Amino acid sequence: MTVSLWRDTAGGAASPRPRLSGDLDVDVAIVGAGYTGLWTAYYLRRADPGLRVAVVEAEQAGFGASGRNGGWCSGLLPVSLPKLEQRHGRGAAIAFQQAMNDTVDEVGRVAAAEGVDCDFAKGGSLGLARSSRQWQHARAEAAQAAAYGFELELLGAAEARARCGATDVHGATWNPHCAALHPLKLARGLARTVERAGVPIFEKTPALQLAPGRVRTAYGEVRAPVVVRATEGYTPGLPGARRAVVPVYSLMVATEPLPEQFWERAGLAERETFTDLRRLVVYGQRTADGRLAFGGRGAPYHFGSAVRPSYDSVPRVHEALRRTLRELFPALDGAGFTHSWGGPLGIARDWHPSVGLDRATGLAWAGGYVGDGVAATNLAGRTLADLITGHETERTGLPWVNHRSPSWEPEPLRWLGINTALRGVVALDALSRLRPGG
Ligand SMILES: Cc1cc2nc3c(=O)[nH]c(=O)nc-3n(C[C@H](O)[C@H](O)[C@H](O)COP(=O)(O)OP(=O)(O)OC[C@H]3O[C@@H](n4cnc5c(N)ncnc54)[C@H](O)[C@@H]3O)c2cc1C
Repeated sequence: MTVSLWRDTAGGAASPRPRLSGDLDVDVAIVGAGYTGLWTAYYLRRADPGLRVAVVEAEQAGFGASGRNGGWCSGLLPVSLPKLEQRHGRGAAIAFQQAMNDTVDEVGRVAAAEGVDCDFAKGGSLGLARSSRQWQHARAEAAQAAAYGFELELLGAAEARARCGATDVHGATWNPHCAALHPLKLARGLARTVERAGVPIFEKTPALQLAPGRVRTAYGEVRAPVVVRATEGYTPGLPGARRAVVPVYSLMVATEPLPEQFWERAGLAERETFTDLRRLVVYGQRTADGRLAFGGRGAPYHFGSAVRPSYDSVPRVHEALRRTLRELFPALDGAGFTHSWGGPLGIARDWHPSVGLDRATGLAWAGGYVGDGVAATNLAGRTLADLITGHETERTGLPWVNHRSPSWEPEPLRWLGINTALRGVVALDALSRLRPGG
């Protein structure tokens, strides 16, 4: 397993929590101590301090994507507004986007209120257009946002370069609804907060089976009328859920702390997160301690939806990320890269995230955020708390509630389809670089 920048800078090793020891009766059992599980526990106890809630976690709180991600706490949705409109209607699409935008502030508000120091800085996000094709794309994105009444500012070349001194910048979009944060500090801080609120977290306690009324582990059973599955990219490892989402790896690299002269040219003074508008997702942030943390997709999907620590490292993809970052910021030449790591995220067959509670069985779930889960997990946690405590709110009417995605194809079709699509995206980006203006 590789060690992430976040693990090395979260303020020391987290003290391990005890395993479950024996059977336990509670009102709500949560499986997974990532953001989804922890936010759900947090809002459940806020809604009803008398509710007995327990969390079981296979490893440690924040072990999964929540402790390893790019730290973009953003209003981004993996489904476009036109697709949401087509499927659920215009009002529902707008309400969902509005709720996501508001969620960025909710994360910052709770972190401040609960004393969770996670380096939260809301500087918005820049989508750099570094070719004429990308500039057209930026303009189309801004026009689309405006058509739904949302702000996505178009910056001309000079304005964009003043904010971010990357190479070949033709212009950019700026979305105000994004904060940069330290993901593991958030996950660990949340875990401490829910524990303080009276929710035990049992670590090194993998759930072997989730069934109505109970979670079975090797160390005892947690019995509860409501069982929440909060395992995202790890979900295919659970019996009966093999084809619910696919785990796709996103990988990251980080530099050493960079000198002030570098930042004078590179900008990002408000800690704006940044991407360029190539087809394969890439994402970066200026960290609170003055490094660049940069990630992207491109790692292969593994047959049978396998998740293993060795998949966190793909030297070819990590090298491509370092190369891309040096292309963006040539002043990095000579600067050291200190960390490379990765982790799995969950993608549903229709790329549609969902949150829900099956009242007949008491089984609840949330996930399929694709790569946009840092804020979405908070909205999911609040929504699950509403559903479980039986409160109808503006959140329980959002179009991802009780959405059922189709199952992924059985293997080997799944493996063939996903890896072929991935190679296609990489090839299109390579072609764009060869074409003038591409
Ligand atoms: C490298 C990377 C970069 C990303 N960058 C961003 C970003 O910048 N912005 C953004 O919005 N999103 C990003 N994402 C996605 C985001 O991190 C996730 O959507 C989010 O963290 C999901 O949280 P979660 O709690 O649902 O899942 P996880 O954080 O994955 O938590 C699931 C937990 O369940 C536990 N578990 C699994 N199986 C069991 C079991 N059987 N029993 C008990 N426990 C179990 C795991 O150990 C894990 O702790 C990124 C993801 C990755 C991997």
